[in-house]
Amino acid sequence: MERRTHTCGELRRDQVGEVVRLCGWVDTVRDHGGVIFIDLRDRYGITQVIYDPTDSLEAWEQAQATRFEFVVQVEGNVESRPDDMVNEKLPTGEIEVRCDIITILNRSETPPFPLEDDKAEKVSEDLRLEFRYLDLRRRIMQKNLRLRHEITQAVRSYLDEQNFLEVETPILTKSTPEGARDYVVPSRVVPGTFYALPQAPQQYKQLLMIAGLDRYFQIARCFRDEDLRADRQPEFTQIDMEMSFVSPEDLYEVVDGMIATVVVASGHEAPILPLARMTYSDAMNRYGSDKPDLRYGLELVNLSDMFAGTDFKVFGGILKRGGVVKAINAKGLGAVSAGTIEQWTEIATSVGLGGLAYIRVQDDGSWKSPIVKFFSDTERTGLEEQLAIEAGDLILFGAGEIDLVNPSLGRLRILAAERAGVVPEGVYAFTWVTEFPLFERTGEGGNLTPMHHPFTSPHPEDAPNLESDPGSCRAQAYDLVLNGIELGGGSIRIHDSAIQSTMFKLLRMPQEEIDSRFGHLIRALTFGAPPHGGIAFGL
Ligand code: ASP
Repeated sequence: MERRTHTCGELRRDQVGEVVRLCGWVDTVRDHGGVIFIDLRDRYGITQVIYDPTDSLEAWEQAQATRFEFVVQVEGNVESRPDDMVNEKLPTGEIEVRCDIITILNRSETPPFPLEDDKAEKVSEDLRLEFRYLDLRRRIMQKNLRLRHEITQAVRSYLDEQNFLEVETPILTKSTPEGARDYVVPSRVVPGTFYALPQAPQQYKQLLMIAGLDRYFQIARCFRDEDLRADRQPEFTQIDMEMSFVSPEDLYEVVDGMIATVVVASGHEAPILPLARMTYSDAMNRYGSDKPDLRYGLELVNLSDMFAGTDFKVFGGILKRGGVVKAINAKGLGAVSAGTIEQWTEIATSVGLGGLAYIRVQDDGSWKSPIVKFFSDTERTGLEEQLAIEAGDLILFGAGEIDLVNPSLGRLRILAAERAGVVPEGVYAFTWVTEFPLFERTGEGGNLTPMHHPFTSPHPEDAPNLESDPGSCRAQAYDLVLNGIELGGGSIRIHDSAIQSTMFKLLRMPQEEIDSRFGHLIRALTFGAPPHGGIAFGL
């Protein structure tokens, strides 16, 4: 007989009467009145095996001597469990294996933490990481790895059907800027010089388009030396794609199909296609974020026109200086504590706003607020209508420069939604965010920095202003967002060598540096580069 005839997840009533061999880890050992019950575990499941001293005393003694996580091979007869002993929770719960042979393939030290999912969750993550191989024996971890595998399989076969070729690109490379610092590897052969690890295969995939591959993808490892945050890791994996002769529309269509495939592969209902779309400017104005969470409303309302002639000096002054007055209605939060308002005020002031004005709407409908005494009757009615104010609401105002007001109200919108408990569970709200600005201004001198990366093409309507007014140019860049999280982003690329050079000049890169760092790409673009674009998703 082979080493194992079945896995620990396989046996059913159909196999009753067969002699089988199983291999696996001892998940639990129980002694029930002299009969030893072992739950034997492998990646596929758990099977209950039993040792009765009357079947084989020797095997029973050995079974009794096993401990958690010993690796054993068992042999015996598949038996049906009596109806009242069936374990509905286990797919193998209708049977057990009555064994008379057990071979200990390897012993195990007592694991430093329990491997049951609920108990292990309470153990320090450091300990779990130190013994990662034990942590990965846990069911939830194996389930996660399996899900990841299923998703990559689904992506591969979908992209294959769409004519994409999977190509590996180098890991020891020249710098591939994506806005982080590079990890570097010293060269032994040429002392004093370094390779950079790729932040993304960006330039390689563009070179593959120039090479005529038409459609490329890669499940690509990327390396970015940046500070750790919840969604930032030094190395991570992207589903990286690039296509020739496409408009953003063509790309959205291919990606929508891929997302639907992934959603279905992960056991959810397919989303309605096409996925929603909104421009960056809409997202910022209505949700105060370039990754809007569309599972709930709570939109930002622009009150600037309504307050245009206001006597309230604070708002009036801001509007005169070109600022805006906006607000959100945090429904039902009229009674939040003073401490909460204080915390939220800190958020508003930390981005540079003068403060956070608010109105608490009392249960009787009256307004409690340090500022409403300055409002005219028309302004009060206007507020009531525009913000659909009802008893129990909390109105939060942001007043100042639009670039400060939007993100701070956007942040408060999320906190208010969480506090009010209006974020629905089990809802998946995808949206494309399109037409990002080409640049943002950073640093003291307000230098231009590409909002996506320097290979992103300007929006065709704005391209004529690239040199005269770069700050106002939109990009042909897009992100896909799910429930307030950016899943991925990309752009249509510059395929004209002169425009690519201009781009680097706008970034104030000295010619020498342009030549040494990007000369290869600028030259490649002179050899018949097709129009192309792509995207990458965190896996
Ligand atoms: N290389 C980009 C990134 O990693 C994605 C892209 O533009 O395709 O974000």
